[in-house]
Amino acid sequence: MTNAIPLSLQKLKYRFYAVLLPVFLSVASLGWYGESQEVNPDPVNLVILPTLTTLYAVSIYVLFFKKPWVETVEKFMIIATCIVSAMKFTYIVTYELEQTMSLGPFTFWMPMFYMFLFFLLNIRWALIVTAATYVWFLGVGIYKLPDLMGTPAVSLLTHYFFANLVFLVTLFFLHTVKQSYIKAEVLEEMANTDYLTGLPNRRKIDKELMKGLEREQKLSIIYLDIDHFKQINDTYGHTAGDTVLKEFTNKTLEVLEKEDLLGRWGGEEFMLLLKNRDIRKARLLAEKIRKHISQHDYKTIKGLTASFGVAELQKGDTLDSLLNRADKALYEAKNNGRNQVAVNEQ
Ligand code: GH3
Ligand code: MG
Ligand code: MG
Repeated sequence: MTNAIPLSLQKLKYRFYAVLLPVFLSVASLGWYGESQEVNPDPVNLVILPTLTTLYAVSIYVLFFKKPWVETVEKFMIIATCIVSAMKFTYIVTYELEQTMSLGPFTFWMPMFYMFLFFLLNIRWALIVTAATYVWFLGVGIYKLPDLMGTPAVSLLTHYFFANLVFLVTLFFLHTVKQSYIKAEVLEEMANTDYLTGLPNRRKIDKELMKGLEREQKLSIIYLDIDHFKQINDTYGHTAGDTVLKEFTNKTLEVLEKEDLLGRWGGEEFMLLLKNRDIRKARLLAEKIRKHISQHDYKTIKGLTASFGVAELQKGDTLDSLLNRADKALYEAKNNGRNQVAVNEQ
């Protein structure tokens, strides 16, 4: 049911369980204790509450000590909760409602259960399970209706069914809205990410550069270009070239600080955006990267070097003028024999 969900969502779900299961365990065990102290305990509660207490305790054990079983236990718990709810509702409507004219505390737990189902399951299964539960409840209500005619229980049940229906439809729409937000976020992420290296792409770097320009931030850039990359492709093949681009990316990232933004500018060219760093610091960093990548032992190729053009944002700069200075510096580094850093301090 919940297979193939992203890892981050899985983690979130585990955290959610880690907080909620102990709460459920407390509610069920306290309810059980309370019921057992009553003079006339509810026989259904005396079955349901110890069962739930045991199930929650087992679930907590599985969550913390037997992670691979979580998916199975989760399905079992959902089915068990559906059966328990159906039993409880059937019992209340059949034996208690006529006397008490109340559906009891059960009423306020049920919407929460529906909510969990929409959170835990994919939309198809959430709809199937909630609809099945709802139809069962409705069936019980309709079956008992002739006996309840003329009592306030009819109005109570009608309210209950309509309120639940509205709640389920709302949940469905909320889910749909949430999905479209997620889709928009994923699209935005994809539009800003380079597929091969996973780095921000030129579009993203451009946007960040524009922000820096607008805020007149202190900012330096390093334009990186791998040396003789065409030869790598020609000698080892395009796939090996791709691997080298990824390895180069990882090696460069190893040297960077958290706020430094490395992006793939295109092909074998990269742009590094350094906020709050002047040209001197940027040059030192470029030198550090240069050494780091040239000393690395690459899996598929003999060796790799890159050239670097460094420039700092100055008053009155446009995006073009800043990039042009870095480009000129890079050109100089290439012309002077590659595997070096050049700085444009104009
Ligand atoms: P220079 O030292 O002057 O920079 O020489 P170069 O060979 O690195 O530069 P050139 O611009 O001549 O060649 C860049 C090559 O990068 C050509 C192109 O096929 C290759 N390339 C661009 N994008 C990719 C990619 O995504 N994967 C692979 N494998 N190669 C790529
Ligand atoms: Mg190159
Ligand atoms: Mg190039």
